[in-house]
Amino acid sequence: MSGPGLPPSLAPVPTPGVRGKVVSVVFGSALLGVLAVGATCVLAAWMSLNRQLQEVYPAVIRASGEGVLEHLDRSIRAIGDVAADRTFLDGVAEAADRSDRSTPDTTLLNQLSGVLLRAKVFSSLVALDEKGQVLAGVGPGAEFRTLLDALAPRGALDSNLTDLMDTAQLRKRLSGVLLPSVQMLQMGDLPSLPLASASLHDDRGRPIGSVHAFVSRAGLGERLRAEVLGANATVLLVSEAGRTVASAGPSRHSPLHKLPEALLRENYDTGPERRMNNGAWSLTAAHALGEYGFTIVIEQPVLSAYAPALMAAVGFGVMGVLAMALMTYSAARLGQGLVRPINLLYHGLRSAARDELVDQNLPLRGAVGEIESLLIAFNAMADRLRARTHETATHSRALQDQNQAFQQHHENLQKLSITDELTQLHNHRFFQDHLGREIKRLGRTGETLALLLVDIDFFKKLNDTYGHAAGDEFLRQIARIMREMVRDTDLLARYGGEEFAIVATETTMEGAMILAEKIRMSIAEASFIVDDTMRPRKATVSIGVAQFNGSRTDLFNSADAALYRAKDGGRNCVIAANDDEAQDHPELGGADPAS
Ligand code: GH3
Ligand code: MG
Ligand code: MG
Repeated sequence: MSGPGLPPSLAPVPTPGVRGKVVSVVFGSALLGVLAVGATCVLAAWMSLNRQLQEVYPAVIRASGEGVLEHLDRSIRAIGDVAADRTFLDGVAEAADRSDRSTPDTTLLNQLSGVLLRAKVFSSLVALDEKGQVLAGVGPGAEFRTLLDALAPRGALDSNLTDLMDTAQLRKRLSGVLLPSVQMLQMGDLPSLPLASASLHDDRGRPIGSVHAFVSRAGLGERLRAEVLGANATVLLVSEAGRTVASAGPSRHSPLHKLPEALLRENYDTGPERRMNNGAWSLTAAHALGEYGFTIVIEQPVLSAYAPALMAAVGFGVMGVLAMALMTYSAARLGQGLVRPINLLYHGLRSAARDELVDQNLPLRGAVGEIESLLIAFNAMADRLRARTHETATHSRALQDQNQAFQQHHENLQKLSITDELTQLHNHRFFQDHLGREIKRLGRTGETLALLLVDIDFFKKLNDTYGHAAGDEFLRQIARIMREMVRDTDLLARYGGEEFAIVATETTMEGAMILAEKIRMSIAEASFIVDDTMRPRKATVSIGVAQFNGSRTDLFNSADAALYRAKDGGRNCVIAANDDEAQDHPELGGADPAS
């Protein structure tokens, strides 16, 4: 919308403007910054977490393994204590000596229950005689019932028995135990389980039987330190066959689940590595305990393991987006704050360039620093410009007035130079110029003109009689009478002294004579009040008339001659020039002075 004559530098503001650029630069920088810092932080978090996992997993495995072994040692000590308990040994001896074994010995049962409660490390207890036959057993659980069934089969038709270890072999194995120890016992579908065993002897050292206890799986599970890794981590105690003996944490495996062979090699030891487990990625680490064929396995969903890094990433993402939004918003506000005064300035400059400066200065509100200085400088410039404009207008008006006065003066001078002061008729000079122009015009158009020379009769006498002032008054009044009689196109001039000349354009001799006669008669009939006496005085004029015949000199001479003849003929009359009168007239002093 640049106006006509507007400098190109004040063309409309191009887009995007300062604000758009500020916003996009800040947005871009913020995005880059957030991405760079975010990526660095998340990577650092990831690496530190990885390092932490590399340290934490082995520590958990170590602690769990030590716990398990310690639990088993406690079991051995506990079974040893049982085997050394005199009261218990007496109970066993008594039960072994009973002839009727159809019902279990209640005393021994009570003793076994007491031991189970005290020892805490066992889930069940069985006492056997020296041949390996069951004397009494207490405890819940499938492994306990299976063991009892295996040691004392109730009938050949019981399908459960077909898969069981040969009873005799089992009895031999169990009763063959010497020192308190833990052995792994595998029966049927059950995982191999730790069984603490000890032989029993009477006070003379003769063997009277053995005692066996399944080590509590719950107790073993409590030794696995899954809680260190968080709620989603599982620590498994796995048997040689790959079955889960005990677990801590939300295990997703049934006891029948077999872990991959790869995890179960002897002396196997791995740090956390990603594996596909049940269709989900898990971090898995395994360590073979060596003793009892145990392997300790850690499983943790990857998402859960890296939750802190993921949380950091999400947190950083949210914070980054918030920070970017805030920075972009601030940039938009800053841009607006910059652009508003710049726009004001721009419009101010536009109006200055168009000479349309308004009276108010630009407001400084909201402008800071350099922009404020710019606005202040502009306002100062606008003040000066307005003052200058005002000054120029005043000067221009004064100049206009002066010019007008000068013009008036000039016109007055012009008028004065061609006007006779006394009569206000044209003067001699103008008469001559005008006649020259008229004669030139006649040459082109072929028209004609007539010259009338009017002379007041006996004017010297009027002067002498009434005074010079009265003479002037006569001149004025006679001039006024004549002015009323001639046409606008005719020229009436004071030729000199008391003589007047009339140039009557487009007039024949006949017309000119009529005009002359009218003039003569009007003056002759007029009464003139020329002095304080207020008496009416009379005056007459004589008029010589000639028609232009091609020569200016002839025109003058013949009119002059006719006037001379009018005077000669008695005055107060009109005389037309004769054709042969175009020669110097003795009285009027000869030819037209201008010729
Ligand atoms: P005639 O009838 O032959 O023309 O006689 P006249 O007296 O008019 O002629 P003359 O030429 O002898 O005298 C003219 C006089 O006019 C002489 C002069 O004093 C007088 N006169 C010339 N100019 C002026 C003037 O401006 N004012 C007055 N008051 N008198 C003037
Ligand atoms: Mg005269
Ligand atoms: Mg005269």
